[in-house]
Amino acid sequence: MKLLSLFFLILWYGCQTDRPKIMTVTGPIHPGEMGLTLEHEHVTTDFIGAEKTKQPQYPVDTALAKLLPFFVELKASGVQTLVECTPAHIGRDVLLLREISQKTGLNILTNTGYYAAVQKKYLPAHAYSETARELAKRWISEWETGIDGTGVKPGFIKLGVGKSQLDTMEQKIVRAGALTHLETGLKIAIHTGSGLAANDEVDILAGEGVAPGALIVVHAQNCSSEDQISLAQRGCWISLDGIGAKPDKIERYLGFLLALKEASLLHRVLISHDNGWAVIKNEDGCIGFEMFGADGAKPYAAIFDSLVPALMNAGFTREEIDLILVQNPSAAFTIEKLTL
Ligand SMILES: [Zn+2]
Repeated sequence: MKLLSLFFLILWYGCQTDRPKIMTVTGPIHPGEMGLTLEHEHVTTDFIGAEKTKQPQYPVDTALAKLLPFFVELKASGVQTLVECTPAHIGRDVLLLREISQKTGLNILTNTGYYAAVQKKYLPAHAYSETARELAKRWISEWETGIDGTGVKPGFIKLGVGKSQLDTMEQKIVRAGALTHLETGLKIAIHTGSGLAANDEVDILAGEGVAPGALIVVHAQNCSSEDQISLAQRGCWISLDGIGAKPDKIERYLGFLLALKEASLLHRVLISHDNGWAVIKNEDGCIGFEMFGADGAKPYAAIFDSLVPALMNAGFTREEIDLILVQNPSAAFTIEKLTL
């Protein structure tokens, strides 16, 4: 009897490890548990530069005292999952994310990878000397053993490139992302400055045998509507970030979403605010936090307070809104190897 129980336990465990999953800062969950998701936001971001000082520059408790109430409110409003897109060397703070997740019940995803946009200010020195394979090895090790000894694992790969055709360094980090994906199944979200750069990303991934479905084109609002449609048709995820409450912003994003709906591509669309807090030095020399991205209004709220009503007015159904805010994020961040 005991042997039989052990057999079933092993069988059950085998099925669990094969099941599709999402990795949060407190461990794996099933994609169906993600619920209402904000798929590109930040908690703290430090713009000081990769080689300037050790990050984070503050004790966890200082950040918690200031920021926790916003996440308590966010969870109470019905949001179940927040994807935190701050990469290493630009303020990623996985201990703070884990504290917020444990204290609020909000699922939070963090990431591995490097950000090569903004004149490479956020790249560590070793990004220049190491090959794509060596960089991938570092990122795969974060997946296998956790980040900086915390045991917290990344739920996706986050990279950043600029507006032009990808330069040698940008090509290298995208290739490193592809190698990491092939080993881990983590999806690849890339801060992208233009349609030109996005198409380069798809081509580099394809060169390594990675399918476009593994790529989330972050800041696709920087691409023309035509580029958004052709990238979605190629199979990428289109992430429209930076949604704010001002009427002209709502009009702009509504236009993008209407065009994607018209092209029957809503199943490839993600949306978010890209709000968060920048680490700053106050006049007294102490570290403070300054909200960014929300035009001084309530953070993480414009989608629900302004965009969703505008979508309903424009004829979007509840099912279509759920597709964008619940089902698409859960599919986009499901850990699975997607090869050509
Ligand atoms: Zn962002």
